[in-house]
Amino acid sequence: MGEIITTDLPERRIFLCLAHMSGKEAEYIDNAFKTNWVTPLGPNVDGFENDLALFLGNNKKVAALSSGTAALHLGLLLLGVKAGDEVLCQSFTFCASANPVLYIGANPVFIDSEDDSWNMSPILLEQAIQNRIEVTGRKPKAIIVVHLYGMPAKMQEIMEISEKYDIPVLEDAAEALGSTYAGCECGTLGTLGVLSFNGNKMITTSGGGALVVSTDELKQKALFYATQARENYPYYQHEEIGYNYRLSNISAGIGRGQMTILNDHIAHHRHIHSLYQSLLHGIGGITLKSNYDSIINSNYWLSCILIDESITGVSYENLRLKLDEKNIETRPLWKPMHLQPVYKNCPDYTDGTAERLFNSGLCLPSGPCVTDNDVEFIVNQIKQILNCL
Ligand SMILES: *Cc1c(COP(=O)(O)O)cnc(C)c1O
Repeated sequence: MGEIITTDLPERRIFLCLAHMSGKEAEYIDNAFKTNWVTPLGPNVDGFENDLALFLGNNKKVAALSSGTAALHLGLLLLGVKAGDEVLCQSFTFCASANPVLYIGANPVFIDSEDDSWNMSPILLEQAIQNRIEVTGRKPKAIIVVHLYGMPAKMQEIMEISEKYDIPVLEDAAEALGSTYAGCECGTLGTLGVLSFNGNKMITTSGGGALVVSTDELKQKALFYATQARENYPYYQHEEIGYNYRLSNISAGIGRGQMTILNDHIAHHRHIHSLYQSLLHGIGGITLKSNYDSIINSNYWLSCILIDESITGVSYENLRLKLDEKNIETRPLWKPMHLQPVYKNCPDYTDGTAERLFNSGLCLPSGPCVTDNDVEFIVNQIKQILNCL
């Protein structure tokens, strides 16, 4: 891949996933300034949406928005979720998957993950649907499934349940740009899909996201809500409540530059994972999360390990602290939503899987600025800490 623009920190720290520029971003931004398109619309926004649609394939349309969180919020609106409705949401995720349910005044119901995919358990999902219908007399309005750390969820099983009960799926692919399921890009598999271009994701616009939809009408509807729900009158007429969620033409310029190296980024994340795989091999008590089935292909946004303390003698938290002393950033896995104080009163259908993962896992540096030498250094430090050297 292109020259890596490293940070000039006094002592270089190895971060999880830093942004990395192709060099082309500045041209698109310059052009926006030269043509005075310093607005939340313009040629870069259109170009970025086209580039994303081309990458995703499957005849999808893309609405570029100010964040992945905004895309989740508009996705729920487009699926008809209203105040008081229930939404089934994967518990093992970043809070942004669930928070938009609350923005609408709807109620999240959390579903646990399974061991192999780390994502929503189709079995618990179906149990939850049946039980919610029994308890509330109403069907949940939507399902939010997440491809955590880029690892694709069991989309075929989940879409079958979605069809059986006629409940749409909002596919949170914020971490999974470039991951595939049965040859299809993640983000194109659900009823609607969500992408994120935050600073730490597969590509960045410094902050941004997108909603992936299947028709031009849905895209127009998303853009309508993203631009204050302005009706078609010469004056400003509003019949619904809208939001200010459009991506700026400046940010979209960064996005267009990033699209020129997206495939390099994906290849690099996968390369880093395979290096971890070979170097961590044979260390007792450490398991690297890898593709669990031949029909999926993770982008390996972050390479993650599970630490079996009964074998290593070192807890995941002690390992994190010791690596931190060596200037290596690692992070515990996402704390499940059903264990978050802010969500303590929400119903959950759980069997302890996400909680167990949270209590034993770490994310390792994996981004475009992580070098082969970094990975060797990190694995050697792990070996030293675990007394395997
Ligand atoms: C990053 C992320 C989001 C939110 O994206 P933003 O662009 O940061 O708003 C949503 N879901 C998951 C799983 C994420 O990792």
